[in-house]
Amino acid sequence: MLIVMQPNATDEEVEGVVRRLAAVGAEAHVSRGRYRTVIGAIGDDNEIARLPLEALDGVERVVPVLKPYKIVARESQDGPTVVSIGGAKVGGEHFAVIAGPCAVENRDQTLTSTKAVAAAGATILRGEAFKPRTSPYSFQGLGREALEIMKDASRETGLPFVAEVVDARDVELVAGYADALRVGARNMQNFSLLSEVGKQPLPVILKRGLNATIEEWLLAAEYIAKEGNESIVLCERGIRTYEPATRFTLDISAVPVLRQLTHLPVIVDPSHAAGRAYAVRPLARAALAVGADGVMVDVHPCPEEALCDGAQALLPHQFEELMGELARMAPIMGRTIG
Ligand code: PEP
Ligand code: MN
Repeated sequence: MLIVMQPNATDEEVEGVVRRLAAVGAEAHVSRGRYRTVIGAIGDDNEIARLPLEALDGVERVVPVLKPYKIVARESQDGPTVVSIGGAKVGGEHFAVIAGPCAVENRDQTLTSTKAVAAAGATILRGEAFKPRTSPYSFQGLGREALEIMKDASRETGLPFVAEVVDARDVELVAGYADALRVGARNMQNFSLLSEVGKQPLPVILKRGLNATIEEWLLAAEYIAKEGNESIVLCERGIRTYEPATRFTLDISAVPVLRQLTHLPVIVDPSHAAGRAYAVRPLARAALAVGADGVMVDVHPCPEEALCDGAQALLPHQFEELMGELARMAPIMGRTIG
């Protein structure tokens, strides 16, 4: 931590800061320049961060030197984390393709979608039981019945599945069925939910909040890791910008940025980012090309009748074409699908 003093800070004010640092066992290195005095604080970061240094007389600003997240920071381990979702790998050389319906609407629709994506080569299924909808009048999901249907889909296809959990009280219920839990964009900063999914052993896919910075997102991941669960996959799903042509703006640059900052795997959801089916395939290809560890794609047998997000769903044959494209690109990128 660096504490930059105001230009006219007095010796007493500098001493005041040094005393506060000493009180939490931190060393203060005072550098007196021609115009400014800067104090370098060395000691327990968490203790120093709790001091109200910016409120002390004579202090202009406090500049953190270390990142605020620790367990998920790249420096905390050698090499990338590879997360295993029911045996399907995400990260390292493994490129995951997660696909299925946005929401489980009924058994037929779900099994048609999941069988088609499995036949085309998807590695993990999706299909939601609880839908966090912007409007309380939109379809909210079938709950436990949907989880039963997804379990059957998983048995029939031999693929693991991921399901969203929207409420800390449902973690046990969803974890009783799914192979991985997902925390959605609207819950990225639901800290009690993050702690709850951190206390159980299944891997967690953490989507980026609609308005979240990359640092806020990594701090959300740190909440999960701090509870002991380090099997976390980050999912970029588009952020809100001024551009209305797509539902959200896919922040593709988040992928290389995250590579610098964290060892966790990063996947991309082109469906929820674009909100339009025509853009899903090009964005999924871009995800593989930019170095992401996987994609998550909505597939529906009859998008015009979907109860949720029909405009962004691929038809099964479009998904099959996408799988062919990804399979051709993967070796160039040094990746194996699955
Ligand atoms: C979803 O993947 O079904 C979903 C609701 O996505 P998001 O949380 O990114 O909006
Ligand atoms: Mn959706």
